[in-house]
Amino acid sequence: MDDVVKIKPFWSEPARRPSREEAEAAVRTLIAWAGDNPDREGLVDTPRRVAKAYREFFAGYGENPSEELGRVFTEVDGYADMVLVRDISFFSHCEHHMAPFSGKAHVAYFPRDGVVGLSKLVRIVEMFSRRLQTQEALTAQIAGALEERLRTRGVAVMIEAEHSCMTMRGVKQHGSSTVTTQFTGVFRDHNERMRFLTLVGGAK
Ligand SMILES: [Zn+2]
Repeated sequence: MDDVVKIKPFWSEPARRPSREEAEAAVRTLIAWAGDNPDREGLVDTPRRVAKAYREFFAGYGENPSEELGRVFTEVDGYADMVLVRDISFFSHCEHHMAPFSGKAHVAYFPRDGVVGLSKLVRIVEMFSRRLQTQEALTAQIAGALEERLRTRGVAVMIEAEHSCMTMRGVKQHGSSTVTTQFTGVFRDHNERMRFLTLVGGAK
């Protein structure tokens, strides 16, 4: 049985946020570390582009799941069964190598007092994936945020992802994927868990 992992503060903010110029200088250093010349024509604007791209890759640090999940709709004509959004594609970066990993998240919950807009589930996946992550923590954080803020009867999260730190370096396992799951509440029941896995389409 998986235990609910309570959401802890996911990150601590840096003591001082570096300036954009400092971030760009750090990228120049990494280019030189790779063995290339940061002053050659094709690379001259790269530090600026990378610093800008980082704002997008890691936009999740500035976002708050409570705000996303604030609005609950109670008029659902008695609907009380599972709500599942499957195949939510996401991109993240592993916190050990800062290498990209990407895949699909399947997120389900059993409503208790109402439902949230379906796009909110997608936003929660985005918010946590746009940080430095491990797949395990990402899975637990999505489940924890829904569990804590939605007062559901149960949450199920399954993530299937390919990690470039495994495919491009180290063991170079091209095509291998990693599957993680987290179940809370009624999803701990075997039948509900099987229904979720069947609806998701099984571990592909
Ligand atoms: Zn890694």
